[in-house]
Amino acid sequence: MLKIFPIFRRKLTHVCSLKPYKDTKWLMPNGNPTGVYIYNCVAEGRVPIILNDPTIATWYSCGPTVYDSAHIGHACCYVKLDIIQRILKSFFNINLVTAMGVTDIDDKIIKKGLETNTDFKTVAKKYEHEFWMDMSSLNIEKPMIITRVSEHIETISQFIKGLIDSGIAYIAKDGSVYFDTSKFPAYGKLQAGQDNGEASDDAKINKMDFALWKGVKPSEPSWPTDWGEGRPGWHIECSAMVSKIFGSQLDFHAGGIDLKFPHHENEETQSCAYHNSRQWANYWVHVGHLNLKDTKMSKSLKNTISIPDVLEKYSADTFRMACLMSNYRYPMEYSDEVMSTAEEVVNKFKFFLKDVEVYANKRDSGVGDYNNKLLNELQKVIENNLEALRSDFDTASCVNALLNLVTQTNRIIKGNTSNYYPVPVLLVADYILQVLTKFGLMLSDSSRDNIRNSFIDTLVEFRHIVRSNALERKDKELLNACDVVRDKMKSMKIQINDSKNTPSWVIIK
Ligand SMILES: [Zn+2]
Repeated sequence: MLKIFPIFRRKLTHVCSLKPYKDTKWLMPNGNPTGVYIYNCVAEGRVPIILNDPTIATWYSCGPTVYDSAHIGHACCYVKLDIIQRILKSFFNINLVTAMGVTDIDDKIIKKGLETNTDFKTVAKKYEHEFWMDMSSLNIEKPMIITRVSEHIETISQFIKGLIDSGIAYIAKDGSVYFDTSKFPAYGKLQAGQDNGEASDDAKINKMDFALWKGVKPSEPSWPTDWGEGRPGWHIECSAMVSKIFGSQLDFHAGGIDLKFPHHENEETQSCAYHNSRQWANYWVHVGHLNLKDTKMSKSLKNTISIPDVLEKYSADTFRMACLMSNYRYPMEYSDEVMSTAEEVVNKFKFFLKDVEVYANKRDSGVGDYNNKLLNELQKVIENNLEALRSDFDTASCVNALLNLVTQTNRIIKGNTSNYYPVPVLLVADYILQVLTKFGLMLSDSSRDNIRNSFIDTLVEFRHIVRSNALERKDKELLNACDVVRDKMKSMKIQINDSKNTPSWVIIK
């Protein structure tokens, strides 16, 4: 279990005297500048990242709604967010505490459950498991905290109760609860003047009001509250779960650009109202869409590409390189041309690293010498790259600078010269390897590791289900069999840690 630092254990307090602010401007947080700049949609420009403690930051990403398999659109979004998190951590020494919310109660999940004659929980479990497998196959770091709506119903209903009590939310006649946007003048600060897409029904007072709670409907799961049975709306879950973990303020809040409005707008609105503050998330990180060449990918058009399909054709490194070579904020095109270019770039780096190894270990070469020109060039690239990353994570410029460095170094390695420069050449190779590793590239044939991890995941999950059932039925024979599996795995250096909800495993050396 992850221990949360005491500073994040702020209590969920609720202030009833709500003072609505009209000000929709971005507020510069108090604290210490990190020297990094990031685009913020509220400020409509780049703003400095300022943190309370410049080495600690909280980060929440909206996670998947687990009703179907993830596709490359999700892959693109989460790889790009993973890259930004890795940059903050490894280039700027910021310790990120990361969390992700999983929507495991939703219209689409319930519908799928009814269609497939299964429980909505079974649907959600299946696709969530698949989601984490996909993420791991893309070398995306798992968030430190995973929050599921089904495990936070109480947190969410308490949050809604706070909003009802303060008079900014109202209960409609069908038992649903809506946020009264007319009482919150700053509504629209992320994207003013947009329709929030919610159907205008009689239950609402104002057109822009959005649902916090959906009144009970026949054949749908529901939970009891003070104001009646029902289930949480989509937007409220993130606000309530984030507040539960991180308190009344959040440093980074991330998701795809399609979440900016209304989802993030509504999250910000209800969180500011609940915490009686003017700014809840200091930094919004929105990733641009992934487009298939000439067509728009969408579930309804049934032209989505699954993550295993992409990885069948290209490596996780190639996909990540394509992401690195595009700007995270803008749309990215997915096509065979884009992917082959990315593949060539990855291979160019791989071959270069091999060539340097051979060059540095040449036995018949002349006397080793420094090459000041190359060392100066390396120094320049190091400084420029840091600057590029500091300016809203410009990874494309970094990759270009590294490619130029490879070309220049190759001239020395492959040049027809009697001079031998192992030191600068090795320093260049070491720097390139460091940067690419920090970006999350694996640069090795790790498909075997992925297969192994997926296999262990599957086995551990299966054992967990069998063991939970055996415990319930007090089936000694099955429990013994589970223990044998655990001991055998341990002898293979894989230790399973049993817990009530989610089992985990580690490789012990
Ligand atoms: Zn969210």
